[in-house]
Amino acid sequence: MTEERRKAVHVTESFLPPKKDFMEYVDKIFKSHSLTNQGPFVTSLERDLREYLDVPQLTVCSNGTLALQLALRLLKLDGKKIITTPFTYVATLSALIWENCEPVFADIDPESLCLDPEAARRVLKDNPDAAGLMPVHVFGNACDVSAFADLAKEYNLQIIYDAAHAFGSKLYGKSLLDFGDSSTCSFHATKIFHTVEGGCIITHCQDDAQKLSLLRAFGHIGDRHICAGINAKMSELHAAMGLSVLKHMHQNLEKRKSLAQAYNKYLSMDSNSQLAKPRLAKGLEWNHAYYPLIFRSQNELLKVMEALNKENIFPRRYFYPSLTTLPYSPKQACPISDDISKRIACLPFWADMPLELAEEIATIILKNLD
Ligand SMILES: *Cc1c(COP(=O)(O)O)cnc(C)c1O
Repeated sequence: MTEERRKAVHVTESFLPPKKDFMEYVDKIFKSHSLTNQGPFVTSLERDLREYLDVPQLTVCSNGTLALQLALRLLKLDGKKIITTPFTYVATLSALIWENCEPVFADIDPESLCLDPEAARRVLKDNPDAAGLMPVHVFGNACDVSAFADLAKEYNLQIIYDAAHAFGSKLYGKSLLDFGDSSTCSFHATKIFHTVEGGCIITHCQDDAQKLSLLRAFGHIGDRHICAGINAKMSELHAAMGLSVLKHMHQNLEKRKSLAQAYNKYLSMDSNSQLAKPRLAKGLEWNHAYYPLIFRSQNELLKVMEALNKENIFPRRYFYPSLTTLPYSPKQACPISDDISKRIACLPFWADMPLELAEEIATIILKNLD
């Protein structure tokens, strides 16, 4: 590492299955000429994911953003007022805007970093016409799902969870993708389970899954046109990647857990009063989708980032900036999100990351704290 500048270390490295496994699927695709339009691998992937996650209905699509848009359409929430969080990836907000919804921000809980049900309740007082909630299971941690269920009942709201980070997380033994009226997930290459590009919508009944299949494929079956759909199909090649990656999920989750424990040890997280992590929900079996670290100030974070960047190591400021600050955002003050987003970063983290690299990163961080 000393004589040669190392390859840049990013926040994650996409998991790749053994090439041979993937190529076996590719050979079959070349033989069958079945490339897309609900081919056999998409059907297998939907079945295998439903089984792996133990969810009632699961519909795959071309990405996690369209998954949110399809869920909004399914629940007839397009064009409606929706309460959401400013501490998320921008896609949560853009999906709402593209479906002509009126997003309204409520602030986050400073410890879980997820939408705060009490803040949502306060916002609802001024927005009694809101029709839905779109909370995010940030970093694979669980939202306060029971508080949101109560709130939804009281205000007659529908809930779509943006569960883009939640694949593999369980709450009291149940997949975190199985809450709300619907949950969506992203299978982007940077996510914990991926199909290069892809996503899915989890619903509770077959009728909803059928409607989603129609919506994602132009709204027609043969010459029978039923509704105005879109093209959000997943291709067979993408499904083949998913089937190859899924076989390694269990092992990858175990490796991620060990890596997180190693980081915790190297950073002395048990006794370190200078660094903090989000507080995990009670009953959560976490997927360790990310390794987020909260600093005491933005200056301290920037100093640490600079020291790491010098070594060609690039943590990612997730999520920065708070979405309240975007030029096209609704104007609602969310001081907790604004504050946290300035002083949080996700450290490099992937299943096969060498432990020595985690140790080196931790050493640089500790050396550069105020
Ligand atoms: C990645 C992500 C999305 C978007 O998923 P894509 O598959 O990239 O379209 C949506 N919401 C959150 C919170 C995400 O992290």
